[in-house]
Amino acid sequence: MGQGKPVAFELNLCIMGVKGGASISETLKNERVTNVVTNGNDGEWTDVHDCDELLCEVMEEARRLGIPFSSEIESRVGINRRAATRFGCCKFQNGRFYIEVAETVAQGPEKSCREVLAHELLHTCPGCRNHGAKWKSYAARMNRAYGYEIQRVTTNASLGVQGIREPKYVLRCERCGVEIPRFRASALTRHPERYRCRCGGTLALRIGPGDS
Ligand SMILES: [Zn+2]
Ligand SMILES: [Zn+2]
Repeated sequence: MGQGKPVAFELNLCIMGVKGGASISETLKNERVTNVVTNGNDGEWTDVHDCDELLCEVMEEARRLGIPFSSEIESRVGINRRAATRFGCCKFQNGRFYIEVAETVAQGPEKSCREVLAHELLHTCPGCRNHGAKWKSYAARMNRAYGYEIQRVTTNASLGVQGIREPKYVLRCERCGVEIPRFRASALTRHPERYRCRCGGTLALRIGPGDS
């Protein structure tokens, strides 16, 4: 791999160089980007009716509590068969939210699946792209009312599912909400301000080494 050669990305998340900073290939030369972004966002997935129904039910539960989730949510839940690092995700594209869960979650205990769906659903509320105070207060309301354990950071053990490798770091695009897992410290985790998401958004460290 020649220095200065641009790195090719086929993935949903891309990290691009920042103006004034080092070139992408220089900055990332030790980072093996294509190996890191393993969540399979653009991977194979199919729709599973069970999850669609569960999402409907979770929406109804949230509605009863007056939680202002978006009306622009795709009713079909994506099942990500290649999800390696995340239980679920909520993508925002063309004015619409798309919720995905990992296949391992879809096949796991129903309560866990509902919790992941609810976690992602809450990200569609105004001001809830991150796990800030607002998101936390809605999660607490759902937990109180329905006995859920919706958490900011979820582990295999707490969900009763297997097979998800837990990253030590997760960066989140502040614009499109996409998440970038990392399994070890790197220039990206130390200096996220030097990088950009493919959409142009800035990246913020959502989970650090002390968080999981
Ligand atoms: Zn989240
Ligand atoms: Zn982005």
